[in-house]
Amino acid sequence: MRRKLAAGNWKMNGTTAALSELEALARAYPTPSIDVLICPPATLLHRAAEVVRDTEVTVGGQNCHAATAGAHTGDISADMLVDAGASAVILGHSERREDHGEQNEDVRAKARAAMDAGLKAIICVGESLEQREAANTLDIIGGQMSGSIPDQSTGENLIVAYEPIWAIGTGKVPTLNEIGEVHDFIRNRLERRFGEGVGRSVRLLYGGSVKPSNAEDIFGVSNVDGALVGGASLKAQDFSGIIDALLKA
Ligand code: PEP
Repeated sequence: MRRKLAAGNWKMNGTTAALSELEALARAYPTPSIDVLICPPATLLHRAAEVVRDTEVTVGGQNCHAATAGAHTGDISADMLVDAGASAVILGHSERREDHGEQNEDVRAKARAAMDAGLKAIICVGESLEQREAANTLDIIGGQMSGSIPDQSTGENLIVAYEPIWAIGTGKVPTLNEIGEVHDFIRNRLERRFGEGVGRSVRLLYGGSVKPSNAEDIFGVSNVDGALVGGASLKAQDFSGIIDALLKA
């Protein structure tokens, strides 16, 4: 049985005041029967970990460097994330692929470092609108998976997030059939590469304009084990609607 996961990506949003949203969330769901993870900006990570300390809500990073330490001004290693209290890290988000030119091999190296440090790597894959319209979605996802996911992956240290780029922050969402097609494809690929046991144990998240109003339908799609949520994770009230839908799924 794969444990469901509601993961929030705060991106470059939030200063100290935002911790009150996390406090509210931790108060509402101290011991949820699903996993609840918030990935705040790195500046808040340590304090966020303190906020959720006596609960089962966890916190994570939004990126890490592939090296364990060294001359990399402005970067953060996986060990540093662990030290700050992280249990997971989002890697290969399309915004990092786009803004920082991250390639599949960069994502793979970072994922290796994250797994070596004991973090769960949430590896993001997803097609652009152009690629979808050209009917290239599955080729793109397959290529990103082969290139970004390290060989040492297991159901414990790997989570894959399918995030169509055109659905992120736009209010547009693929049809349930389209989500199902990609999630089944990802599951199949994982089973072929890692064997049925591992392939079936990796959690698959959908991400892209998930809101309380559409979460229930999305969570009803097969092979959707939860969501990676941007905008709607910033406010405890919105994210609670998504958590509640996942608790019911
Ligand atoms: C994201 O950036 O991971 C994301 C899914 O954003 P949003 O929920 O705002 O579309």
